[in-house]
Amino acid sequence: MSITPEEVVAARDWLASFGCDERGGMTRLLFSKSWLAAQLALKQRFEDLGMTAEFDEVGNLVGTYQGSGESEEIIATGSHVDTVVQGGKLDGALGIFGGYLAIKHLIENYGTPKKSLRIISMAEEEGSRFPFVFWGSKNLVGCVPAADIQGIADSEGVSFVEAMNDCGFSPRTQTSSPLDKVEAFVELHIEQGNTLEMEGSSVGVVNAIAGQRRYNIHLHGQANHAGTTRMCYRHDVVQVFAEIVSSSLAKANEAGDPLVLTFGHIEVSPNTVNVVPGEALFSMDCRHTDKAVLHSFSEALEADMVRIAAQHGVTIEIECWMDEDPVPMNLELVSLIEQTCKERGDNYLVMHSGAGHDSQIIAPHVPTGMLFVPSIDGVSHNPAEDTDPADLARGIDALAGVLHKLAY
Ligand SMILES: [Zn+2]
Repeated sequence: MSITPEEVVAARDWLASFGCDERGGMTRLLFSKSWLAAQLALKQRFEDLGMTAEFDEVGNLVGTYQGSGESEEIIATGSHVDTVVQGGKLDGALGIFGGYLAIKHLIENYGTPKKSLRIISMAEEEGSRFPFVFWGSKNLVGCVPAADIQGIADSEGVSFVEAMNDCGFSPRTQTSSPLDKVEAFVELHIEQGNTLEMEGSSVGVVNAIAGQRRYNIHLHGQANHAGTTRMCYRHDVVQVFAEIVSSSLAKANEAGDPLVLTFGHIEVSPNTVNVVPGEALFSMDCRHTDKAVLHSFSEALEADMVRIAAQHGVTIEIECWMDEDPVPMNLELVSLIEQTCKERGDNYLVMHSGAGHDSQIIAPHVPTGMLFVPSIDGVSHNPAEDTDPADLARGIDALAGVLHKLAY
């Protein structure tokens, strides 16, 4: 018996009723009223299904359906309950309402599993309220040092600690974790890109999460009169920026998939029509699933930048402020998920994730796998984020199939 698109839409809209933004979309930020309401409502749903449901110290909600006792191991699923500002109904949420529906379906159709089934509604992943990401999953795999959240506040000046305490949570002190005895963690998520749609596939089997390097690059040239400064005497930072961007993107296009390179932010000074620009600050974001390639590619670009800047008498400062290694998913789980999709007759695609997910934090500690469903037009972090309900149902069914293989 399959999960119906109608059931899926009802569960999606139910969870989306917590945190509807009047300006459009969903805003359910960590430790906000709507966030707490969603977590408490989920707790009730989990309990109604016969699960024990408890919060850990930091705000992760953990629902467990007790297995028959033949095995002590636990099979877990879940995702994050927080959203970006004016996000959609599916990012993070799918892994929770979908995980819940998958477990509900298994219990109703197959009874008590041998191994306990667990769902974790993780407190936070997006970093949308406070300048901190992966609060939920980082606390599952270790204690986030108190110093990391001391002194950080949201845009209204509410401190992380105050917001957390107001919801009844505090930094983790316990040594036990909801991931103890978890034998496998499988996350269902929307793709947030258009690969599945373009390939005509309805399920993605994730084999790795791309690593990423993020840079801030400062150029110091010389601001000067736009009319009187001859071209040969300029130290124009925009010329340097343009050459860097065009040569780097040419190399990125040549390298091809799965490499992606983005210059998303630029500030130029004095930023006026009749002055040769003297200062520029820009960002670079480079991602790849292979650590060695990510390093060698980005280091080659750094060398190019230094050379191009020097040719124009411009000083350059290159700061790499984020360096996250790629995270492979567990090989056995990847093939088990693939096998499940094959048996179900799903049109699936083995692919990597270009976006970050809770699974990348959990994978180094617990065997982890991920399933994707297509995002219509590849749109995400946007009120228009959507997936065909039939695809949502297929993804949840596939997750149920995987959990069944693991727990029964
Ligand atoms: Zn997400």
